[in-house]
Amino acid sequence: MKLLLIFTHLFILIAQGYSKEELNLYSARQEVLMRPLIKLFEDEYKIKVNIVSAKANQLINRIVQEGEYTNADILLTTDVGRLHIAKEKNIFQKIDSITLTNLIPSNYRDKDNYWFGVSLRARLLVYNKNSINKSDLNGYIDLANNKWKSKILVRSSNNVYNQSLISAMVIKYGEEEVKKFLKGFISNFARKPSGGDRDQIRAVAAGEGDLALVNSYYFLKMKSQDNKKKLGHVVEYFPKDNFMQTHINISGAGIIKNSKNKENAIKFLEFLVSNEAQKIYAEVNFEYPILKKI
Ligand code: FE
Repeated sequence: MKLLLIFTHLFILIAQGYSKEELNLYSARQEVLMRPLIKLFEDEYKIKVNIVSAKANQLINRIVQEGEYTNADILLTTDVGRLHIAKEKNIFQKIDSITLTNLIPSNYRDKDNYWFGVSLRARLLVYNKNSINKSDLNGYIDLANNKWKSKILVRSSNNVYNQSLISAMVIKYGEEEVKKFLKGFISNFARKPSGGDRDQIRAVAAGEGDLALVNSYYFLKMKSQDNKKKLGHVVEYFPKDNFMQTHINISGAGIIKNSKNKENAIKFLEFLVSNEAQKIYAEVNFEYPILKKI
């Protein structure tokens, strides 16, 4: 009888152990993109994924406040700027995974392995080919040229995409050049910045301005859905000059310092750079895979 009781206890403990295989994802990425990835991961690894969705800064602040009591295992977000802030706020832990360091090029992950890029995007120009000659386009710094007066559309500077681009420009062109650039650039705006990247693309299509600075996946996705050819005259240009080529940014993730499911979290990050997950990033969200072969 006693033996039976011990076995029953053991069984319950094991069953609990199995049912505990889970992962808590704090995600600043759109659910439409994450759902197919998560479904695939859950089926393959038998790990239940719980998602908490919010804006990146809200998630970062929440993880800071929750401290050691947090349920978060992973923070998933876009832009190296936000991943950098998360590392500065000390919410990530260093991860040693040969899979991650082998697959992700070193320029797309933290030098101390606190965060990892999993997909790529370009901050490019889209322009109205009926009013602009491609041969007149150049690198980013040329957007300060007064030939673009009242033609440029861009979202507000409080957005991290612009902040990261300007940071990259400071590295490539130097602070003084970029200060001068910003004055000219702003004076070339077609209107006061408003809306997101998609709104700038729509404004080019509608003729409110002639060129816009936007992230590649927004444009590619809108083009793919453009059945009525409203965007037929809007095309892309990858800025490039002798100092700087097109700014490439990442979406990425880090494992939370106080994670209670670290092993599962590592499995998830490694899954995100698998061939099948990388295909989903390209096919569902129009991002560039971080794996060259995909
Ligand atoms: Fe975005």
